[in-house]
Amino acid sequence: MKQQILAIVTGSLLVFCQAGASDDRLLTDAHIHYSHDAWELIPPAKAVEILRAAGLKKAFVSSSSDEGTQKLYAEAPELIVPVLRPYRKRGELATWMHDATVIEMLTVLVSENRYAGIGEFHAFGDDMELPVLQGIIELAKQNALFLHAHSDADAIRRIFHHNPEAVVLWAHSGFDEPEVIAEMLATYPNLWADLAFRSDHVSGDEIDADWLKLFSEWPRRILLGTDTYTPERWYYVEDHAAMSRKWLALLPVNIAENIAWKNADELLRVSGFLK
Ligand SMILES: [Zn+2]
Repeated sequence: MKQQILAIVTGSLLVFCQAGASDDRLLTDAHIHYSHDAWELIPPAKAVEILRAAGLKKAFVSSSSDEGTQKLYAEAPELIVPVLRPYRKRGELATWMHDATVIEMLTVLVSENRYAGIGEFHAFGDDMELPVLQGIIELAKQNALFLHAHSDADAIRRIFHHNPEAVVLWAHSGFDEPEVIAEMLATYPNLWADLAFRSDHVSGDEIDADWLKLFSEWPRRILLGTDTYTPERWYYVEDHAAMSRKWLALLPVNIAENIAWKNADELLRVSGFLK
């Protein structure tokens, strides 16, 4: 092993430096969207070029409508992990769960295309009891798909209540505190959490102590994500990857590698997408 690891204890915070940590570390980005208003601005070939320039091993992609995901998957099937978003267009975040035709649409798409998961969808608390959400939980179960849920902890608990075998990727780790995330990961062995649109785990050259504790306790359950929820965010994918490499280099090498891409592969294996 080429990399040296220095451990410096500062108060309760343990900082690890990997001397010579590489700038070309492989990463998997678990939270990319390629929705209709991005297609013209960033055509599929360009989008794939951006993902490759960012040094991604894989990118989990979903889009409103699903056509965007299919365009990218056709362009680079080895890079794109297709995830089925239940929205036809931007602006359905708060209304989609009351539209009974959504399940019909998803059922047809699942029969026509290959997907790893359903999401990212937005649902909170008892939204999870609505027929459309129940339908999604069932569809995921029938087709061995993970659920990418932008949800609060309550909604995540309800998913597992309805299907204890569900495989769930918790978008943005619920924007919750590390303590709550740890408790959720401890309770649900098939729960993974992404760090999309979060920066509170790093400040300057240090990993926050509570987050470091979380990463150390749950090194196999955290994933990276950018969240290109608007077309402009696509111009940020490369910077985000570079920033991720920078803070990952502060972690012990095995934890960094897990968060960088191994955990994403494991999620895809457990849900059945990767053999
Ligand atoms: Zn998102």
